[in-house]
Amino acid sequence: MKAFRGAEFLISLNFWLKRKFVWPFFPSSRPRIIALLGGPGAGKGTVAGQLAPALKLTHISTGALIRKEIAQGTEFGKRVKDMVEKGQLIPDQMALDLLERALRAPENARGAILDGFPRSRGQAELLDKLLSSWGLSVEKAVWLELSENDLIERLSLRRTCSNSACGRSYHLKFEPPKRDGVCDACSSSLYQRKDDAPESIRERLVTYREESKPLRSYYQRTMGGALVFVNPTNAMTKEQVLAKVKAVVND
Ligand SMILES: [Zn+2]
Repeated sequence: MKAFRGAEFLISLNFWLKRKFVWPFFPSSRPRIIALLGGPGAGKGTVAGQLAPALKLTHISTGALIRKEIAQGTEFGKRVKDMVEKGQLIPDQMALDLLERALRAPENARGAILDGFPRSRGQAELLDKLLSSWGLSVEKAVWLELSENDLIERLSLRRTCSNSACGRSYHLKFEPPKRDGVCDACSSSLYQRKDDAPESIRERLVTYREESKPLRSYYQRTMGGALVFVNPTNAMTKEQVLAKVKAVVND
């Protein structure tokens, strides 16, 4: 426990020093923050997973962070378990706290592709406030927009690795595992997440439609041209989608 606190302290100190004495004078050393937006099943995780190494950034999935907390049975995990299973959003401030901890971690020093945050206008405002207190801002917000039919087709066939440390997701049609029901990466069994079951999917899409309108107008107003839309379809390959996203990020 003592060693853990010591490590936390060093991470905080390192972060503080960079924020005070490095970033203000060397803009190129500031972490790049790119937000990937879109409904459940839009492919944010897949795109972020490929885009991050291409840009030498890391991939921060708030969904994966939350699932890890639940699997580990932490205090945070216990508080959000029911909400997640019902397909509800967890309170904004709790999601932001989780994200802040990740952004301060040394492995994310170059910056990150954010996948799953912000999901609402409230979250976007909290994120802006946090980043601006560090002298940073979201560099680009890329919105993946799919038709509702394509989203449903994607979600109902999604399967997730049961090993929470891995958490890789597959799609029975677009990205099947090499062996039926078994994770390619760690050989654990695959399962259908409760929030990918048909009743949860409908609830998630309703939540998404409600929550995303104010987020969209907020970013249109505050980010202008740094908010960009990409329209993948289920007929496109992963590579085609990634190429489109890369083009708008590098633009
Ligand atoms: Zn796995």
